[in-house]
Amino acid sequence: MKRPKGFTLVELLVVISIIAILLAVLIPALNKARQQAKKVVCSSNMRQMGVALQCYLQDSETHLPDSSCHTDDPNEYWLKILTKYLKQNLLFKCPADEAKNFVDWNKSSRQQPDNARWSSFALNSLLDSNCPRYSGKYNSVKFIYKPQYCIYVSESPSSWTKEDHIHPETWGYSINTAKKYIAWDRHSNKSNYLFADGHAETLKIEDTYSWPGNCFWFPESSPGWPNDE
Ligand SMILES: [Zn+2]
Ligand SMILES: [Zn+2]
Repeated sequence: MKRPKGFTLVELLVVISIIAILLAVLIPALNKARQQAKKVVCSSNMRQMGVALQCYLQDSETHLPDSSCHTDDPNEYWLKILTKYLKQNLLFKCPADEAKNFVDWNKSSRQQPDNARWSSFALNSLLDSNCPRYSGKYNSVKFIYKPQYCIYVSESPSSWTKEDHIHPETWGYSINTAKKYIAWDRHSNKSNYLFADGHAETLKIEDTYSWPGNCFWFPESSPGWPNDE
């Protein structure tokens, strides 16, 4: 019998199905590796923010850089201030943040379009020097009850535009409300947080805000809830 040249239809189908099976196995693994890489880039960026923050605190006698809550000049915003304390640039955008529209940091906040983001990150405005709730008392790290448990910077959802800060005092114990202001699933059900002592962690939102339980957002009581909450 003479062997036919080339492949039979069955042989071709077998080869094609083997390739399809290999792709089905490999693509999710590749996606996972890509997501993991984005998380590592974001965490190390946040650790760099922490390094800059510690240098800044030495210069500022423990006072923290402010958010945009009460000023229009982006040069006075926390992220711009922190970049001055590092040789390399900080990322203003998390690699896993899918938003396209970001502001021009050289213009004042009033000149920015409503649909643009300042950065992928948001500052806890309870630590601002103009925070009405505390008259700015907790702008100084030395008054924060336990700075290693108090969140200073979190990741904000891709839809969060116009502002560079959040107001945890308005969330009213509700994890679902908190989830509107934090990119809780940016890195596989977790996101990165920078604490007032300058260390960064990747956490589930439930670990930072659960009633009754931990609350890492209020400077007078973190990791617990304030008495009036
Ligand atoms: Zn505000
Ligand atoms: Zn991120």
